[in-house]
Amino acid sequence: MKLYNLKEHQEQVSFGQAVRQGLGRNQGLFFPSELPELGDVDALLEMDFVGRSTKILSAFIGEELAAETVNQMVDNAFKFPAPVAKVKDGVYALELFHGPTLAFKDFGGRFMAQSLAAVTDSDGKITILTATSGDTGAAVAHAFYGMDNIKVVILYPKGKISPLQEKLFCTLGGNISTVAVDGTFDDCQALVKQAFDDEALRQEVGLNSANSINISRLMAQICYYFEAVAQLPKAEREQLVIAVPSGNFGNLTAGLLAKSLGLPVKRFIAATNVNDTVPRYLKNGEWAPEPTVPTISNAMDVSQPNNWPRIEELCKLKGWGLDQLGYGAVTDEQTAETLRQMDAEGYLCEPHGAIAYRILTEQLEDGETGMFLCTAHPAKFKEVVDEILDKDIDLPAPLAKHNAMELLSLERDNDFEQLKAVLRSVQD
Ligand SMILES: *Cc1c(COP(=O)(O)O)cnc(C)c1O
Repeated sequence: MKLYNLKEHQEQVSFGQAVRQGLGRNQGLFFPSELPELGDVDALLEMDFVGRSTKILSAFIGEELAAETVNQMVDNAFKFPAPVAKVKDGVYALELFHGPTLAFKDFGGRFMAQSLAAVTDSDGKITILTATSGDTGAAVAHAFYGMDNIKVVILYPKGKISPLQEKLFCTLGGNISTVAVDGTFDDCQALVKQAFDDEALRQEVGLNSANSINISRLMAQICYYFEAVAQLPKAEREQLVIAVPSGNFGNLTAGLLAKSLGLPVKRFIAATNVNDTVPRYLKNGEWAPEPTVPTISNAMDVSQPNNWPRIEELCKLKGWGLDQLGYGAVTDEQTAETLRQMDAEGYLCEPHGAIAYRILTEQLEDGETGMFLCTAHPAKFKEVVDEILDKDIDLPAPLAKHNAMELLSLERDNDFEQLKAVLRSVQD
């Protein structure tokens, strides 16, 4: 597999290099030089999740890793299902929250950990550095926990993620270090970018990123779009519209990649909260990020979505106009109203999924089948969901266990020198 840097096209790397480096020169994202041909998509849809995902990922990776190796990686990573639930006639939920940290990021995080282990010699130093607005951190921490030659440092905005989210990944210890930064998610992301720009530091601690900019995460996410369509009745596969609750736009990138591989999807909808840089851009053609606003769908509180250049590139390559993308943005009040409506319809959801559901059902046309992605388990946003629905929802076992443990996070200013010191100390 060859990939190129979107900012400097002459920088070409293998799958292994892209996985190890995360980002290319000048903070450029990697993008596949060739999109594979999958052949008979209907036959592929007949296969089971692990078998089908192995085929898709092997087609991407090519000769660099043996098919048996990829099969083992997928088998280790995808140990939980991605079921489709019917919410009402013609509207389905793709539930991506049945993994160990109860959010879709388990798929990408776990496949990334497998990929990195597969393409790294055992003697090199590796420090995974990532910024999280909540769920990536948990997924990455759990995916790498116990891989002792890989150190993980996770930055998150102090006080801006839910206490339960924090408990889930800041209680592990061992090779996992977490840092509560006095700033916003965008500040955390800027610190990560600054670290990757510091070539000497990058070498010294073997820096690697594990957020949605790592190509292996996106590749893993392609697989559950196929799994979603495979579960739909055949008659409902033809006019499928999928709404994706979006923050950094990795999930939507993966969906569009799935479509480029031949998955029958009529249209995608980019659904955001009031951090609506993309919906405004799709409306008026102006890229004008505003300061990030905190919302109850905090994993989507991103105003500078870093996967967007990949979407532009893919659309350009495929000749798809950006006007084919649906879009919409939802306020907290509307999100709460939608959660109550869904609850009345018999489906317990959480704010991120509810945003996608709302925009989907507003825009779905006659004859179309709708699907929205449920990116997290409702209990992961228990405080918010309980208050809006006036309930006391149960904590699933993994959350209950971590909730009872002590927080181990370091607290630091929004300051690069302080981050450097942390990175050096975990490798000592
Ligand atoms: C990360 C996350 C999102 C946003 O996904 P992107 O790929 O960053 O667009 C949506 N919902 C939840 C629950 C998340 O954790």
